[in-house]
Amino acid sequence: MKMKLTILGRWGAYPEAGESTAGYLLQTDRGNYLLDCGSGVLSKAWQYITPGELKGVFLSHFHQDHKADLGCLQYAMKFALVFGWRQDRLKIYANKKEPHFPELFYDEYTAGIGVESGDSLEIDGLRVSFQETVHDGYNLAMRFEYGGKVLIYTGDMGPKSELTDFCRGADLLLGETSLFEEESGMVETHMTTKELALLAEKAQAKNLILTHFPHKGDLNRMPREASRYFSGAVRLAEIGDIHQI
Ligand SMILES: [Zn+2]
Ligand SMILES: [Zn+2]
Repeated sequence: MKMKLTILGRWGAYPEAGESTAGYLLQTDRGNYLLDCGSGVLSKAWQYITPGELKGVFLSHFHQDHKADLGCLQYAMKFALVFGWRQDRLKIYANKKEPHFPELFYDEYTAGIGVESGDSLEIDGLRVSFQETVHDGYNLAMRFEYGGKVLIYTGDMGPKSELTDFCRGADLLLGETSLFEEESGMVETHMTTKELALLAEKAQAKNLILTHFPHKGDLNRMPREASRYFSGAVRLAEIGDIHQI
């Protein structure tokens, strides 16, 4: 197995009925990781793994739509350790510049691991690199490399983020699209379909998944808009979809 990405959530701000905000399960043959842990994400995650099987969490930033379920995840880790389902505290990787960083520590159950833009680390064969984006918070985009394949997860970002080199050659780019094409140039802190597609094209990504959706407008327009500017394959994030990378 190389990397397997399961979509656990796909909304910005708050979840629509029965769904969840940002959250993704990344699996290699050596570990299971959560990328963000927004509202509703935990109940989806346990459809695939148990609390004992989660090796780490990568948090893009501390906005609630990316971290709302972290408190309950910390309780889950307490139960897992007390009941003997796991032996080690959960590591939560996040930007150490963020004032809320200390919230990641919960007794002997969870611990924050501080990272910053430009850092790169390796966990059981999974190389993870971080780069800060333009957002109204300390957001880190992440590049995951395993078995010769590359996954990028942008977290939240505006169009002035300089991510082309960081995203170069991605097999899969999972990127935020909070806005439709006609809103291009109007918002500094989130991406339109066009802006994300142009980034994917410049970086020569192979596949693009749109996520972190707005709560108005026809979502089915989004992949059509992105396809005008990106020559690779474009899909909307769908909860439960599994992407082999
Ligand atoms: Zn967000
Ligand atoms: Zn945000």
